[in-house]
Amino acid sequence: MQTPVTLDALVSLCKRRGFVYQSAEIYGGLNGVYDFGPLGALLKQNIKSAWMSALNSSGRDIVYLDGAILGAQPVWQASGHVTNFNDPMIDCLTCKKRYRADDDNIDTSKPCPHCGNTTWTAVRQFNMMFKTEVGAASDQSSIAYLRPETAQAIFVNFKNVISTTRVKIPFGIAQIGKAFRNEITPKQFLFRMREFEQMEIEWFCKDEYSLADFEVWCQERLAFYASIGITADKIRLRPHVKDELAHYAQRCTDVEYQFPFGWKELEGIAHRGSFDLTQHSTHSGKDLSVFEQESSSSYVPTVVECSVGVDRLFLTLLFDAYHEDIVEGEKRIVLRLHPRIAPVKAAFLPLVKKLSEPMEKLYRQARQAGLSVQYDESGSIGKRYRRQDEIGTPLCITYDFDSENDQSVTIRDRDTTEQKRMPIDQVLPYVTAMMQR
Ligand code: ATP
Repeated sequence: MQTPVTLDALVSLCKRRGFVYQSAEIYGGLNGVYDFGPLGALLKQNIKSAWMSALNSSGRDIVYLDGAILGAQPVWQASGHVTNFNDPMIDCLTCKKRYRADDDNIDTSKPCPHCGNTTWTAVRQFNMMFKTEVGAASDQSSIAYLRPETAQAIFVNFKNVISTTRVKIPFGIAQIGKAFRNEITPKQFLFRMREFEQMEIEWFCKDEYSLADFEVWCQERLAFYASIGITADKIRLRPHVKDELAHYAQRCTDVEYQFPFGWKELEGIAHRGSFDLTQHSTHSGKDLSVFEQESSSSYVPTVVECSVGVDRLFLTLLFDAYHEDIVEGEKRIVLRLHPRIAPVKAAFLPLVKKLSEPMEKLYRQARQAGLSVQYDESGSIGKRYRRQDEIGTPLCITYDFDSENDQSVTIRDRDTTEQKRMPIDQVLPYVTAMMQR
C-alpha cells in the first residue's frame, strides 16, 4: 500500500541525495532561500526545458526575453508594486513571533499558536519587495528593487520586441528568471521562498479574442502538466470568484495541485486586460499601442498571463513522483519522475568490479552522446538499484558474466523493476527513445 508522502520525508530525501540544500547552511542558513545541489540543478534545468519545448511545439508565435533582475524604481511605481505589493502582517507582543494576518491559522480573537497569549499588535501592511540602492550616491533616484516577478520586464520591452522582431499580434513573450519576495513567513520548503524562479508567458492579443484565448491557455497549461507526468486527479483548474480578482482582471484561474497541505496554487492564469501596458504608457509618456494596417487604427493589446514558479513545480513533481513500496521484502523509496524530467536518465552498473571496463566504456559513450547518466560500481547490485530508484533514474543497465559471451546487458525498469536482456549496441538508442516518450 502506498504511504502518503510527507513534507518531512521529501525535505530529507532532497538533502540526503543532493537535490536541495538550505542556503548558507554552515552559517545557520538563510530563511526562505535554498541552493540546488547536483541533482536539483539538473532537475530544474529539465523543468525549464520542458516548459520551453511545450511553448515551441504549441505552434503559436512566442519569443523569449531575459530581463534584468534589478528594476528601476519607476517601473515598480507604474506597475503598482510600490504601493500595493503588500501582505498584512501581525506580531505576537509576548513571543515576538510574526505571522501573515491572512493566514488561515491566525485569528486575533484567539491566542498566538506559538505561545498561547492573546497579545497582538495591530495589523500592518508589509511591502514584499527587496529595496536596494544603485551606485555610490544615496538619494531617491538611486532606489531600485529586486524584481518580485519577471513580467514587468516583458511589458517594459514590449515595443522593443515588436520593433526588433517580425512578431505580430497575437503573439507571446515568455521569460524564465529569478524573482524575489520578502515573504513574511516563508514556509513549506520550496512552496514559499524569498528567492525563487518564475516561468511566465505574456500573451498579447486583441481584446475581442482574449476571453477565448484565456480558455485555450487554461487547457494548454493543463496539457503541459499531463505531458510531464503529473497525476491527472491531483491537478485542477480553479477559477477565481469575483472578489478574489484584481480590479483590472476580467478573469483569473489557478492551476492547483493537491499537496499534502491542501489544494494550492501551482500556476496563475490571469486575464490582465490592457492594464500593464496602459500604466507603463502613462508613466513613461511612451506610446505602447500597436498600429493595425487593416483598420488604420491603433490599440493597446490585451494580455493573458500564465505564471508558474520553477521551484514550486519542482516541489510538485517530487510530491507527485514520491512512492514507497516493497520490493523483494524490503521497503524502497522510488521517484516515479517522467523520463524527460528525471535528472539522471540511466545508470551503468557492472555486476562486480572486475567487469567494470565494458560498462565504463558504454557510460562514457552515453555521456559523449549528451545523456545525463551515472556510473556506479560500489555496493551490492540491490543497493545500487535502490540508490537509483530514490533519485528517479528510469533505467539501470547491468553488465554481468553472461554479457562477456552474448554481448548483451540487463536493462531494469525503475517502475516495474522488470529486467530484460538487450544487445549492448541497442542500449543508447533505447535510452534516447525513452526520453522522447
Ligand atoms: P501565492 O498566493 O501562493 O503567494 P501569488 O498569487 O502571489 O501566489 P503570483 O504572483 O501569481 O503568486 O506568482 C506566480 C507563481 O509564482 C505562483 O503561482 C507560484 O508558482 C510562484 N510563486 C509566487 N510566489 C512564490 C514564492 N514565494 N515562492 C515560490 N514560488 C512562488
